[in-house]
Amino acid sequence: MKAPSQIRNLVTGGAGFLGSHLVDRLMKAGEEVICIDNFHTGRKKNVEHWIGNPYFELIRHDVTEPILLEVDRIWHLACPASPIHYQLNPIKTAKTSFLGTYNMLGLARRVEARLLLASSSEVYGNPEIHPQPESYKGCVNTIGIRSCYDEGKRIAETLCNDYLRMNNTQVRIARIFNTYGPRMLPDDGRVISNFIVQSLTKKPLTIYGKGSQSRSFCYVDDLIEGLIRLMNSSYSNPVNIGNPDEITISEVADLISKKFDNNEGFEYLEMPIDDPYRRQPVIDFARQNLKWEPKVSFIDGIEETCSYFRDYFSH
Ligand code: NAD
Ligand code: UDP
Repeated sequence: MKAPSQIRNLVTGGAGFLGSHLVDRLMKAGEEVICIDNFHTGRKKNVEHWIGNPYFELIRHDVTEPILLEVDRIWHLACPASPIHYQLNPIKTAKTSFLGTYNMLGLARRVEARLLLASSSEVYGNPEIHPQPESYKGCVNTIGIRSCYDEGKRIAETLCNDYLRMNNTQVRIARIFNTYGPRMLPDDGRVISNFIVQSLTKKPLTIYGKGSQSRSFCYVDDLIEGLIRLMNSSYSNPVNIGNPDEITISEVADLISKKFDNNEGFEYLEMPIDDPYRRQPVIDFARQNLKWEPKVSFIDGIEETCSYFRDYFSH
């Protein structure tokens, strides 16, 4: 029996936005962490404060290749998350989702580790029901420009369940909804980082379509807490982890431009193909069974994120 402080974690994509916050939480809890990353969208800087710590190891590795490691828990986050990055090389994105998850499940099976998959609300596609409970099967275009990611996450969930059924591999599936916070890349094209960076550089905010589409944004600290509770739980079914407060993109634009006294206005651009019109999680399962719900308000979370980007651009 291992003491909790001896839990050995593998975080794939650990140098990325969510991965690096997870690494921080695990390291602060006194656990061991191996972080693997191919640095496609992640940066060493996000984890450099742990380099030299005997409980931390950083390995440059691509999850589409197998790797042999002795670990107890695998947090499988490796995959570009922003549309502009995952659409840059869609074949690679599909490979990362399928082969990466296959390799990590193979490792989990061999060493009897528990694996948590960072799945996505994108498995619901452009949803026909609103808000989205875990029981909704989704409405995904199989051949569109978002399909490499959306279908990638769907096959990853399928693989997890087949490993569970065939080998009794312990899996946890987090359906993560839009998350924001410090360490987002300033140029990753996601709406929160775009609007903050545009405000800081005194440019008009780019609204795609009319801005009437909605999302429900979760602050990163809340999200990480949800992932940890799910990993520690006994539930292998997919669980929505996100903030249920829905907001339109126009409302986000108004709020951020007012915050910065940005008088440059808005630039209305074409709506990207297959952009989901609405998105809002039902989080009853997480509330009841993980005793989890988001705590950070959108205003407070945006404040933290703005401070991060102000700092980022002042150096
Ligand atoms: P991110 O792009 O910041 O992080 C992904 C990390 O994975 C990066 O460090 C990248 O270099 C690494 N990576 C990518 N392909 C790899 C490969 N083949 N081998 C090894 N490393 C690889 O994205 P994020 O926002 O931190 O997302 C992390 C995970 O959470 C992803 O799986 C994403 O699909 C999922 N997710 C994120 C959100 C969100 O709003 N941020 C929403 C839903 C799901
Ligand atoms: N969006 C926008 N302007 C931007 C970036 C994004 O209006 O500069 C819109 C985008 O069309 C989508 C929403 O904001 O409807 C969220 O986009 P993001 O890329 O952040 O997340 P995702 O589409 O993956 O949910």
